[in-house]
Order: sequence, then structure tokens, then C-alpha cells
Amino acid sequence: MTDYTSDIRSIRGIGEKKAQAFNRLGVFSLFDLISCFPRRYEDRSTVKEIADTTAGESVCIRAVISDEPRLQRVRRGLELVKFRAVDQSGVVDITYFNQPYIRQQIHRGDEFRFFGRIELQGIRRSMINPIFEPENGISGTEALTGRIVPIYRLTSGLNQKTMIQSIRQSLNVAEIPEVLPASVRGNLPEAPLAYENIHFPSDWQTLDAARRRFVFEELFLLSCALGQRRNEVGHGILLSKPDFTPFYQSLPFSPTKAQCNAVEEASADLSSGRQMNRLLQGDVGSGKTLVAAALIWQCVQNGYLSAFMAPTEILAEQHYRTLSAFLSPLGIRIGLLTGSMSVSDKKAVKDRLEKEKLDLIIGTHALLGLKLPRLALAVTDEQHRFGVDQRAALISSGDDSGTAPQPHVLVMSATPIPRTLALIIYGDLDVSVLDELPPGRQPVDTFCVGSAYHTRLLAFIRKLCAEGRQVFVVCPKVEEDETEEDEPPERSLLSAVDYAEKLQKELSELRIGCVHGRLRSVEKDSVMQDFMNGKIQVLVSTTVIEVGVDVPNAALMLIENAERFGLSQLHQLRGRVGRGKHKSYCVLVTDHDSEETRARMKIMCETTDGFRIAEEDLRLRGPGDFFGSRQHGLPELHVADLGTDTDTLMNAKKAADSLLAEDPKLEHYPLLKQRVDLLLEKTGGTLN
Ligand code: ADP
Ligand code: MG
Repeated sequence: MTDYTSDIRSIRGIGEKKAQAFNRLGVFSLFDLISCFPRRYEDRSTVKEIADTTAGESVCIRAVISDEPRLQRVRRGLELVKFRAVDQSGVVDITYFNQPYIRQQIHRGDEFRFFGRIELQGIRRSMINPIFEPENGISGTEALTGRIVPIYRLTSGLNQKTMIQSIRQSLNVAEIPEVLPASVRGNLPEAPLAYENIHFPSDWQTLDAARRRFVFEELFLLSCALGQRRNEVGHGILLSKPDFTPFYQSLPFSPTKAQCNAVEEASADLSSGRQMNRLLQGDVGSGKTLVAAALIWQCVQNGYLSAFMAPTEILAEQHYRTLSAFLSPLGIRIGLLTGSMSVSDKKAVKDRLEKEKLDLIIGTHALLGLKLPRLALAVTDEQHRFGVDQRAALISSGDDSGTAPQPHVLVMSATPIPRTLALIIYGDLDVSVLDELPPGRQPVDTFCVGSAYHTRLLAFIRKLCAEGRQVFVVCPKVEEDETEEDEPPERSLLSAVDYAEKLQKELSELRIGCVHGRLRSVEKDSVMQDFMNGKIQVLVSTTVIEVGVDVPNAALMLIENAERFGLSQLHQLRGRVGRGKHKSYCVLVTDHDSEETRARMKIMCETTDGFRIAEEDLRLRGPGDFFGSRQHGLPELHVADLGTDTDTLMNAKKAADSLLAEDPKLEHYPLLKQRVDLLLEKTGGTLN
């Protein structure tokens, strides 16, 4: 037996060249190799009689070679090896292209198993390039026919056969230790058996048992990693809890019950002496900013600085206005710092910071470079837009000597996240939820129509604009390489720019603007400003407007090619309207009538409940696509599926929590500790 961390070169058949190909797949050790789980499996277990096979079918047959294979040179670069094989029921003609060496391996009278696709010309059956192996297999190698065969992801320099035989070898020689503590594993198959069966299952049941073990293992390791991070939370700056009455009294409205609860929860964290790591989740328009304002006020009462980071300049400015409205009357001094400010303006803000003449600094990524020694609270909005490292950088803007009390962290997100996903993404954060909208909001009426309604929609836009309202139009982003789509183009996708031009012709009396990803951010911001102050009536855009802009006068959200958007994205977009006192609408335009599209549009028309929509989205699209990007920092899961493995996730989390309660540093489980550390390393030390 060999140590499972040995280099793959120790395996028979893996030389320098193949080793390099494996390295490209990230495979260095025997353990890496056996951790390359099959992408799928092919059922080659049933062996059929030739006469029972049908055209187009991929089958396994057992046959004797009835004539000596002949080499035909058709032309330069095309050589065929042809022969005939028979069983008691029939005959099949077999041809190999450009594999002349076949003639050294296959001879008249030998019996082989072949696996391939049957072609039928008249009554003659044939197979081209079938997989073949001797009836009794080749000792020491894995059979490729007559069984369930694993199919692997490949890279240049590796073929399926190499993968299979290398993994076979590794399983034969590697000593595979058990990472799961016995009490945790329960009756799941133990490691060596599970690795054997995930690659080379004898039947579907053993494969299923192996898969269940690895799903559990993956979620368990992840839960351990998250649990450890949660426990690592250090000292927080002690901020005694103030009387919030003056703050609440200065507001132009009364806070909702949900807002008060969230303030209470977070405020208790700030005064606990432990560092707060809290996620504030609330649907668009639920009033998260107010909660942040209350906590900032608590900091100020204790003589500390707060920082508020937004993902775009527009949003930073919007928060600057909103927070100023809440906090300036209370005498709180607020500064704004964004990348596009003039050098002298930036310097002025930094001076005020240094002279301790600010209580709150609001900004974009521009904040990341600052030294903020008095920082007690870092708030980030729409956090999945920020890279994990950036959030960490803001937090550590304070003193990181290691022992000093740390600033508190409040993360705000408008993306309702299903419970399963929240457990993973925000597993190391405490969560407050704003599950209530401020009173007086009118629900947005949602309709789904086909493109034939275009003329009627134009009339509707005219009518709303005549009443003084404004309109959002969203087009999907058109990728440069749209050509690789193989669906027929029912209705060609217009880019936002083309669409805006067309709309300007159709609605020549209206002022129409356009923002899209290729504009520079100053240009984008200037168009957005024009829309916010009413100079533009209709704003055509790609989803760059998806994040929190507040234009209370906008009363219609028109979404073209709505089938192209995920449910959560549609919901976010719809949240851009219905923020003022005007009756608002959302119109989804699509000509797709696949069942899935219809199901999604139906949900949008039926409900405005962001959580319900998120659950459906997860179910329909799976977690990988959930945010439309991987920016959320969700660790890549190889076996588990968060859409369906919910119960396993709950069990894994429970097991991890109780193991950590007993042994927080996993000192008694060195192997487990090693794997968990590796996971933390891979995700940059932060898992949310
Ligand atoms: P979001 O959670 O989407 O960030 P905001 O904090 O931007 O929501 O709040 C949306 C709007 O609702 C703002 O104009 C804000 O002033 C207003 N608002 C917040 N809380 C209340 C409340 N309790 N009553 C009335 N309006 C409120
Ligand atoms: Mg917001």
C-alpha cells in the first residue's frame, strides 16, 4: 500500500507527460486523482445478442472475429481496419478509422466484447470505432464494457481509458484514511468502499450509497469550516446601548416593527463585547438603511467612527443623501468619498477624517485604502457585489495587532436567500430579517405579454409619461458570442443601444436615455443622474440598474426578453418601481412558451414575496446560477446540490456543530482539521 498523498508519477503508466496533463486538471497526488469523480456514468452492463440490437442504439455485444482484420488505405491520411464479428444470432461489420495497430490486437477466432453504436444499412449491421476488450478482461485493469462505466472530465493529453486505468491503479495501491469520525459517519459507507463505488459501482444502489456519503462529507466539511469561522469571532469594540428615542423621534415616519427588532438585535451585539457579524436581509424597499442609521447613531453616541460602503458611485451618493436626511438633524457629521471626486475634494474629506471631524464616511471602493483607526462599525450594502477580500479589507482598516477589539460588521442584502443557501453563504453570520414593508406601499401589478403587444405598450408609456411618471426598460445583455446558441432565434435580441434608438423613433416626443455595461462609469452615472432628476423620462438599460437605485417617480418597469432573466433578478428589477406614492406596474415581455418560462412568469405575476420567489428560483435553476455570477463567493460544491440535498445539509450542519462544541479546534481529528483548513484556504479564508 502507498500513502494516498504520493505523487501520481508513482503509478504504473503515468510518466512525465501524462503527469503534466493531470497537473493541468489540478491533480498531483493519488488522493487528487481518486477525488476526480465521474462526470456521468454509462450503462454498458447489458450485453445483447447481435440480432436483438436496433439501429442507433449504443450497446455491448459479445462476438467472435470471423475473418482476419484487413488494412485499407483509402487515401493519404485515411486508413481503415475492417473485419467481421459474429455471435450465434447474427453478424456485424466493424471498422476502425486510422488505428492500424488494431491489427496487432485483434485476430480471427478471438472473442471480444464491443461497445458502440449500431448502424443499420439494409439488413447489415455495422459499428464504427467501438470500444473493445477481450472477453475475460485484461488482468489488473478495469473492464470498460459489460458494466456501469464512469465517464470523466478530460483535458488534452488524457483520454477516458487513461483516466479509468489511472484511477483503478490509485484505488489499488492507495491507503485511503477515513476523514469522518465514526460517530458522524453512522451507517454511510466508509471511505475506501465509497471511493471504489463512486468510480466503479457494481450497480446503481452501491453508486447511490457512495454518492450519499460524499454529499454528506462535502456538506459536513463545509459546515465545520463555517462553524469554526463563526467561533473565531474576536473581541468587538464595546459600544454601550443608547436610548434610541431621540433618533426615532427625529424620523419623518415611524419605524416598522421589523426595523425596531433588527435595531434591537444588532444593538445588543454592539454592546456585547463580542464582534458583531450580522447580515441584515430585507426585500427591496423594506428600509434597511434606517437600521444602519440607528447603529451608526449608537457608534456616534460612543464617540466612534462608522464607514458605509456601497458598490457603485450612484448608490454611495444616494446613501449619502438618505443617511444625511436621517442623521444630519441629529448633528452627525458625514463625509462622502468616491473615485470620481476631484483630488482636492478627496483631500478635504481625508483631512476631516484625520482631524476627527467626521462621524460617518460613506463611499465606494475608494474607502478601502483608508486608515480608519477610530472605526467601530463597517456597513456594506448589497454585499454580494463586493469581493470577499474587499469586505475583509474594510474591516481590517482598524487596528489589526490581533488582540485589539475589532470593528463590527453589518452586511445588508436585498437578495432574499432560501434558508439552505443562507446557511452556506452566510453560515458565519447572524441574521436579522426585515419581513415587513413600510405601510402605504402599493403592490406592483405585474403582467406578462408577448411582443405583439409592443404598440399597446408604447401607448401605455406615452400615457404614464404624460402624467409625469418615468419608465424603466430593461433588455438582456447581448453577449458578443451569441452565435453558439443553438436555439432558433424566435425573436432577435436587441441590444439596449439598438432598442433605445428604435424606441426614440417610435416615441419621438419623449426623452429617452440608455445605460449599458460598455459605458465608462462616469458616463453611466451622468445618464443615471439625468434619470433621477427627471431630465430623462424613459431609461433603457441592461441590468446595470439592478442594484438599489431609488427613483420614486418611476411607475413602470418593462422587461424585454424576460425569459432571459432569473426569477430573483426579475424580482430585484421589479423592486425598482412602486417606491413612491404612484400606482406602479411591471410588464414582462416574452415570446417563449416553454413550460419553464411559463412557470416562472406565472410566479412573478402571482406573488411579490421575495422569499417565495427565491425558493422557486433555487428549485428551477440550481444554486450555481442563483446570483447570475460567482461573485457571491459560494464555495464550489462538487457533489452536493443545494437545491435538493437540503436534508443532508441540515444533518451535516447539526453533526458539525455538535462536534465543534466538543472540540472547537478539531484537535482530536487531525485529518478532518487538515481538510477543513484546506477548504478555508481555497475560499480565501472567508466563506461568505
Ligand atoms: P432598502 O431596504 O431597499 O434599502 P431603503 O432603506 O432604501 O430600502 O428604504 C426605502 C424607502 O422607504 C426610503 O425612501 C425610506 O426613506 C423609506 N422608509 C424606510 N423606512 C420607512 C418606514 N418605516 N416608513 C415609511 N417609509 C420608510
Ligand atoms: Mg438599499
